[in-house]
Amino acid sequence: MPFANKAVRERARRRIAQQVKAGEPCHLCGRPIDLTVRYPDPDAFTVDHVVPTSLGGSDAFETLRPAHNRCNRQRSNLPMGTVGRNSGVLG
Ligand SMILES: [Zn+2]
Repeated sequence: MPFANKAVRERARRRIAQQVKAGEPCHLCGRPIDLTVRYPDPDAFTVDHVVPTSLGGSDAFETLRPAHNRCNRQRSNLPMGTVGRNSGVLG
């Protein structure tokens, strides 16, 4: 989940964390996220780009969703709804 720079990433993390506190679950698996779990734990909170930056996605707040570290990594760079070699879904 590369961001343009650290400041952009930190601002995004704070805003998305507020949504998680308000009850928004992981957008990939639908389970709640525990904000006290620290990265790089698989259950840790991460910010996911709905459109991967490698595919032209931006850091705009509207394109960001909360996700578990594990879920984020398994999704890799694939567009939503696809399953492929790098998604982890096929092993
Ligand atoms: Zn998840």
